[in-house]
Amino acid sequence: MIDRIKHAVPVGLVSAALVSFTSRSTSSPPPGDGPAAVAAPSRTIAQGEQDAAPLARLVGTVWKATPLDEPSHDTPLSGARVTHLMTGQWTTTGRQGEFRLPDSEVRTALFGPGCIIFNDAGEELTDDGIGSSELNFRATNEPDRAQVSAFYWINRAYEFTRDVMGDQLEYLPTRVNADGPGNAFWDGFALVLPRSGDGSPNTAYSDIVVHEYGHAVDARLGGIRDWPYSEGFGDALAILVTEQPIVPRRFPGAMRDASTCVSWKEYENWNKDKRIEYRWEVGRVYSGFVWQLVQGLKSSGVPEPMLVAKRLVLGAAVKNPKDIPDAVYLSFVAADDDGDLGNGTPHFAQLAAAADSRDIPRPRRRDEK
Ligand SMILES: [Zn+2]
Repeated sequence: MIDRIKHAVPVGLVSAALVSFTSRSTSSPPPGDGPAAVAAPSRTIAQGEQDAAPLARLVGTVWKATPLDEPSHDTPLSGARVTHLMTGQWTTTGRQGEFRLPDSEVRTALFGPGCIIFNDAGEELTDDGIGSSELNFRATNEPDRAQVSAFYWINRAYEFTRDVMGDQLEYLPTRVNADGPGNAFWDGFALVLPRSGDGSPNTAYSDIVVHEYGHAVDARLGGIRDWPYSEGFGDALAILVTEQPIVPRRFPGAMRDASTCVSWKEYENWNKDKRIEYRWEVGRVYSGFVWQLVQGLKSSGVPEPMLVAKRLVLGAAVKNPKDIPDAVYLSFVAADDDGDLGNGTPHFAQLAAAADSRDIPRPRRRDEK
């Protein structure tokens, strides 16, 4: 069943993965054989029982930046299912990895509302412990770290986009340590994150995971209409989540730096050349706009600039832009508070400066020359 999901992902919907897990859970042996926490029974914890149980925590080792940098140990993991082995009760870890279950053996897996990890290189990770103790995915090798890191970053992206996405990408199937080094992608159903090889690091890290998640978001918000926008939107999402401009960091041949200026005028006829590298290149016009918007909001002293930028970028995304200039226009619309762009909008100056920095056409105030 799992193999079918792994190797025939393009067909079906996210729910297919859930159906598959549900059927496995009813037919699988008691916890103790393989990744049984994934096949958790369905009884949740009553509030009274939760309050009585001690607070425990789930953490793990993840690639906070890239696999070529020091990993970050004991990172709280939210959104993971933890199952009490005696009773089958289960719960999902909170923002700081916290959970409450009766104080005896429990098992956790990289499975939850944000995503379901499938490991193409072997079995999926699980971790056992006592309900009152700390559970820790001490991933010590590349295939294990890739699983924990992908889970961590997808949950970050899931939380970041939840306001606009609702449950549209819940339980997102994610294949890690896949063959074909270097080429991570969204296949319309699952995220596919290859292992290292051919000079490329494992792709299950911050910038790449969030970028690919961006394609999934774009696809669910009315479909991918324009590849340069989709690439730029993925990069913009990675920039907003990681708060730095390079996507993907330390990845030979594919790094895009949104802080360096590129002009839309150079690229407006991009569709004469549809090489994928070119899509990324054109996408830099949009990610550059977003990067510049963040800088402008920060330097103007706007409170919570990252949150404002997120609201404007996702506010445009939900309207399913047809191309990069349309996305920029729709971010003005998202900022507007009175149905009239001609009299300006909140953050108009920062939006205008960001658009102008990349020569992107934009709305004008009536009092502008
Ligand atoms: Zn992409």
